[in-house]
Amino acid sequence: MTQRQIDHDTPLPPCRQGHAPRHIHDLRRQSAGGGHLVECRCCSTAKHATFEDALLEWKRINRIRTPRPPARPVATVLQLPLRLQGAGKTLL
Ligand SMILES: [Zn+2]
Repeated sequence: MTQRQIDHDTPLPPCRQGHAPRHIHDLRRQSAGGGHLVECRCCSTAKHATFEDALLEWKRINRIRTPRPPARPVATVLQLPLRLQGAGKTLL
């Protein structure tokens, strides 16, 4: 058996039909048909060299949008007043 299922701490996003997908790693060399794929009972990605690539295809074929990272906190960095006008004089 050259294929094994890899479990992830964070579940993979379900397909459009709502099936929970599996990450399969085919341990053969890629030239021999190995690689990573994501599949559920209704669809499957092609094999990819990395799981990240397989997941990208999975999201593409199922039109899953990667949630954007939370919006940047609004202006937590205070703008320091610019005090450069006098700096030249001080340095010289
Ligand atoms: Zn499915």
